[in-house]
Amino acid sequence: MTDYPYEAPASQALLERALAVTPGGVNSPVRAFRAVGGTPRFMVSGSGPYLRDADGREYVDLVCSWGPMILGHGHPDVLAAVAQAAQAGFSFGTPSENEVALAEEIVARVEPVDQVRLVSSGTEATMSAIRLARGFTGRSLIVKFAGCYHGHVDSLLAAAGSGVATFALPDSAGVPKEMAAETIVLPYNDAEALEACFAERGDQIAAVITEASPGNMGVVPPLPGFTAAIRRVTAEHGALMISDEVMTGFRCSRAGWFGLEGDAGYAAGAPDLFTFGKVMGGGFPAAAFGGRRDVMAMLAPEGPVYQAGTLAGNPVATAAGLATLRGCTDEVYERLQTVADAISGAAGEELAKAGVPHVIQRAGSMFSVFFREEPVTDYDQARAQQVPAFTAFFHSMLAQGVHLPPSAFEAWFVSAAHDDAAVERVVAALPAAAAAAARAVG
Ligand SMILES: *Cc1c(COP(=O)(O)O)cnc(C)c1O
Repeated sequence: MTDYPYEAPASQALLERALAVTPGGVNSPVRAFRAVGGTPRFMVSGSGPYLRDADGREYVDLVCSWGPMILGHGHPDVLAAVAQAAQAGFSFGTPSENEVALAEEIVARVEPVDQVRLVSSGTEATMSAIRLARGFTGRSLIVKFAGCYHGHVDSLLAAAGSGVATFALPDSAGVPKEMAAETIVLPYNDAEALEACFAERGDQIAAVITEASPGNMGVVPPLPGFTAAIRRVTAEHGALMISDEVMTGFRCSRAGWFGLEGDAGYAAGAPDLFTFGKVMGGGFPAAAFGGRRDVMAMLAPEGPVYQAGTLAGNPVATAAGLATLRGCTDEVYERLQTVADAISGAAGEELAKAGVPHVIQRAGSMFSVFFREEPVTDYDQARAQQVPAFTAFFHSMLAQGVHLPPSAFEAWFVSAAHDDAAVERVVAALPAAAAAAARAVG
């Protein structure tokens, strides 16, 4: 049993109010702390690398809203852009310039993307990309990989990562069997399984969707050649390749994982479609899907694939996203690497000193700690870790004022606002947390 050596009475009171009116007291399951136990912290404000909770306690934030807060909380340029946009009006229900500018910024950064359509969440982006792939190919089947999370789209919840992994749900209730039957789930990083699948049913497969570099089962980058294998096999069989960069987009590099893996990974060609979210909304609901012009031309009003949104391209959200992307300079990406190096390096050292089995995996500045000896290349391996070690580690860090993702199956996120003082606070908390993890695994 982990004990919680601290109290959070104001958060606890808010949780009790929330439980009366919201299932589990939260609006996204992983926030409920069910996997780690204890009281989720109700945050009241954020500034740079820090969050403050309802009890007035300050934390170094290593969740960063699950990725979007790449410049830190309350960045002055983003705040100014939001204030200016809000002054001008909250929502028009017409096209507006910010949408165009944000689309231009995305298209300029990710070379294979000719056009994008803006939506309000990553889930909508993947859902729409799949409909588009089906409309374009006239086929129904979708291939996904176990442990990859693409939002809570019905057909993509099979063997999904993120909260689904955290709660060890095989699948979600409420997804019709017929719908699940349209999805083929394969092990990640297994090119042979992919080839065998296409050899059998290749002419019925509309698309393969993959996280560009998975972060929702912990960080599990593609093995050399795997991304290229997806591209080659889909192209041979007339299926589309959808690269889900909702998490990695504009975080792993200027051009996301695509920019980082570069020519080596994409030697067999670029994906047909991409999905984006998180960073590109700057903390507001904005996401996108985009890619090849001929595929995007299938979308209404140009083509027969319908897709729409009352708040899609919202002027305030797009202002936040645009200011965030413009703020993501080369210096910002350098700082993210430096911070990730410092924190992941120190975590590795302290866990080693304490004798805790662990492996740290990186994708750009995203990283996660698996509490096991061997590297992780797929979902089965990600699940075969000593979760109690993580739980003890997590609670020790929380008690010392470091807010980690409350699950062993999530990436840790840093921001460019994590200055040396914030990094030092994290590093100082690690020895006690590593010792707690060591006690948990006995
Ligand atoms: C977060 C995430 C999504 C879902 O985005 P939401 O905005 O939560 O709907 C989809 N795909 C990946 C890879 C993600 O990390």
